[in-house]
Amino acid sequence: MKEQLYTIPVNDEFDKDCECPVCEMYRSLQNAAVDFTMGPSYMEDDIRMETNRVGFCDKHVKLLYQNQNRLGLALILQTHTEQVIKNAEKLAKGGRAAGGFFRKRETSGVKAYMDGLDASCYICNRMANTFERYLVTVFYLYDTDEAFRRKFAACKGFCNRHYALLYEMANSRLSGKMCEEFLSVLNNVYLENLKRVRDDLEWFVDKFDHTHVNDPWKNSRDALQRTIQKLNSIPADEV
Ligand SMILES: [Zn+2]
Ligand SMILES: [Zn+2]
Repeated sequence: MKEQLYTIPVNDEFDKDCECPVCEMYRSLQNAAVDFTMGPSYMEDDIRMETNRVGFCDKHVKLLYQNQNRLGLALILQTHTEQVIKNAEKLAKGGRAAGGFFRKRETSGVKAYMDGLDASCYICNRMANTFERYLVTVFYLYDTDEAFRRKFAACKGFCNRHYALLYEMANSRLSGKMCEEFLSVLNNVYLENLKRVRDDLEWFVDKFDHTHVNDPWKNSRDALQRTIQKLNSIPADEV
């Protein structure tokens, strides 16, 4: 089966005026996953079995809470909590958790189970495959579409995490000269734009000096939020 490509949404995210189009891709998929989880699907048995088993990471349980479907979230967390209690009771007696995670011999069952819960998340899992396909689409477009190559080179760069992700994937997704060109453009667009944000932040700091109090802000008003996006992959408007 031919794996799906997402040329339209990927192009759309690269059209946005932002500090990292990959953060925007992640955010769109995350919003869709939250909406799905808080929609009618949480009453379906197979989905509830999965949310009971894996739970949610810190970031995503907060987003679910903000979604305002308090009854829906309460029902999901009610049955998840029941499963945690059942597993914890078994493990505390030295037994094995039902539907638990693989555990190493040297770690206690309780610790391994709780670590597994901490590291697993229904929303993260639901997004993972499509996010990977979005990234594959970036390379497909770069390889085949001259207009996209220009768009990529002209974007405002990437956050650290997504720069590294694109850097790492390039070798397996592009070959020969195209891969070399991609890496050179990627490095350039990442570094030039990180320097731009650094300079904006420098002016933001300078503005606190009384000698600059009447000078214009230039592009520095939101320099702190944009720096946080570059460093921590949180979209500037969500900081
Ligand atoms: Zn990013
Ligand atoms: Zn998550």
